[in-house]
Amino acid sequence: MANSTVIKELLKDYDKKRSQALENADRRKKTIYLEIPRLQEIEDELNKYAIETAKSILISNSSEYLKNLQEKIKVLHEERTSILRKNNINLSDLEPIYECPLCKDTGYITENSQTVMCSCLKQKLLNIEYNKSNIGNLDKENFKKFNLNLYSDEVNESKYNADISPRENIKIVAKAAKSFIKNFNNPNEKNLLFSGGTGLGKTFLSNCIVAELLSQGKTVLYQTAPVMLDTLINELFDKDSNNTFSQNLLSVELLVIDDLGTETMNSMKFTELYKIINTRLLNQNGKITKTIISTNLDLQGLFNTYDERIVSRFIGNYNIFRFFGDDIRFKKGIQ
Ligand SMILES: [Zn+2]
Repeated sequence: MANSTVIKELLKDYDKKRSQALENADRRKKTIYLEIPRLQEIEDELNKYAIETAKSILISNSSEYLKNLQEKIKVLHEERTSILRKNNINLSDLEPIYECPLCKDTGYITENSQTVMCSCLKQKLLNIEYNKSNIGNLDKENFKKFNLNLYSDEVNESKYNADISPRENIKIVAKAAKSFIKNFNNPNEKNLLFSGGTGLGKTFLSNCIVAELLSQGKTVLYQTAPVMLDTLINELFDKDSNNTFSQNLLSVELLVIDDLGTETMNSMKFTELYKIINTRLLNQNGKITKTIISTNLDLQGLFNTYDERIVSRFIGNYNIFRFFGDDIRFKKGIQ
């Protein structure tokens, strides 16, 4: 299966990263131990006592002996701590620095005494299989690069159909986006729906949120509505498929649906879209699943395009924001 080949390739990379991290730590350690040989002695003694402890538990020596060992270990730990402190060294300086501290770059973690894929590996698979080029350049599209000054500070009710300026408005939206990130694990924190024309920063802001949540180890699937629904329908008709895509749509921690309203709709797609939207609201198996939708349609447009069941889910469970102002894509060019 294609998927297992991909996993194998990824795990090779993990192996490399892990050995590199261990090697680097070893090198750092050697340099430090060269200067403070007592640290090497302490480590050797600790290793020796660890083995003796294990042996003593296995052959059930007297508890007196075990207590004695534990006391020796404690004293050594204390001595090491004081040496490190005196020399301004952190214990972490002696340990490997993994790219993913969760799985220590193995790709797998233990959860409820079961071995499961770590979110970092899950995300790599999602990126390869589905996200492809959907997720923008996250180095460029993150909150640090989010420039409020691209939005006009003019209040113009007849032009913008609002009594605040586009800049005031985008400040409110950005604040909501940050709250969404901060409260991601709170089931009461609503999902996000961004409505407005192209070039007003909807995708940019979605990418800012994606960048932030990915760095927190959340899994993210980013799809445009037309591609998502077509892929889903194709999968439903594919007898040999194991429904990986639809399962991912339901279970990924953050799903971003971009360009909702640009797809050609039919009743089957309605049903599937409703299922995705609704199931993700249920946070099944105690796992938080949140969704960001962006659309060119306004609320009336949503009502005209989708049936009431879908729109009422938006109104009840999404914070809806209208993006307005002037196309910022051109302004970026002259910066
Ligand atoms: Zn990991």
